[in-house]
Amino acid sequence: MNSKQTAAIRKILNEWYLINKRTLPWRETKDPYKIWISEIILQQTRVNQGLDYYNRFIERFPDVKSLAEAGEDEVLKYWQGLGYYSRARNLHKAAKQIMNKYNGAFPTVYHEVLSLSGVGEYTAAAVCSLAYHQPYAVVDGNVYRVLSRLTGSSTPIDTSVGKKEFSAVAQQLLFITSPDVHNQAMMDFGALQCTPANPDCEICVLQDFCEAYKLNIVGQLPVKQGKTNVKNRYFNYFFIKNDDYTYLKKRTGKDIWQNLYEFPLIETDKEMNFQELTETESFRQLFGETELTVQKISHPVKHILSHRIINAVFYKINISDENETIKDFEKLLLSELNQFPVSRLTELYLEKG
Ligand code: SF4
Repeated sequence: MNSKQTAAIRKILNEWYLINKRTLPWRETKDPYKIWISEIILQQTRVNQGLDYYNRFIERFPDVKSLAEAGEDEVLKYWQGLGYYSRARNLHKAAKQIMNKYNGAFPTVYHEVLSLSGVGEYTAAAVCSLAYHQPYAVVDGNVYRVLSRLTGSSTPIDTSVGKKEFSAVAQQLLFITSPDVHNQAMMDFGALQCTPANPDCEICVLQDFCEAYKLNIVGQLPVKQGKTNVKNRYFNYFFIKNDDYTYLKKRTGKDIWQNLYEFPLIETDKEMNFQELTETESFRQLFGETELTVQKISHPVKHILSHRIINAVFYKINISDENETIKDFEKLLLSELNQFPVSRLTELYLEKG
């Protein structure tokens, strides 16, 4: 793209945005905290779904201080159902960093923002450009798509070469006198006009500048190098009822759903029925000599995560000895269950009953 083309594209994008922009609460503010929260929520979440979470989150944690002072369980509870829980843990960690290192004032320098837990180049650029008008171009999935089509580049966007190439194009294209409007225009243009499937190129205001359109390769761009290997896992959960009590434990260790709570679990390397489960060492370790009766077995559920398919079965179990304990599990009132952050899988199971 030469300088004449980039100037024309900026102008057209800017005009397009003024007519087509989405009205969203985080666009009405220059508060870096709120912009940061919205950007983290929207990283893996559609705008419609993220909006409710954003409003609830900001209402409960309106600033860095309130977030830093909250307990992690409560932060995770507000995140429940959004997935990618490391985002919430990192938000909480970063709020504490801001309190300790910057006396609670959100950092204003790009590299300081980038140093916060869970903040990558995209988020740092978004916060600095949207809150402080600093000249950093954002490159999210929408922007990758628009740029790869405009330039007709088939460099895979999920490679370090692709990241470098498209970041450079985005930075070249950035309208530095209004980086906030320009960045939002790029993202909205990708979300609303240059959509992943079947964009309506015939009405596109950038048609004259679009290499992919000229070469008739719109459907082939952007290119991605490879799909992630998806692994199947088999979770057998035990929702135990002991009078008015049940048992729960926090998931620790570096795995999915870290720091969320769950029922006693036996993970197996293949599907097993209840009889087969009772014959495993894990079952003996979990229940020992405890007398239990199976009240209900759920239908098998396939819960799809980005790199995993969780094949889950929930066993509703009754234990009649009220003094019974389950090793390593907390015994709590059934009525308290909804206070604990749990995975979407468990939440859905509990909703269905
Ligand atoms: S012409 Fe089509 S592919 Fe090119 S920028 Fe416009 S919508 Fe995207």
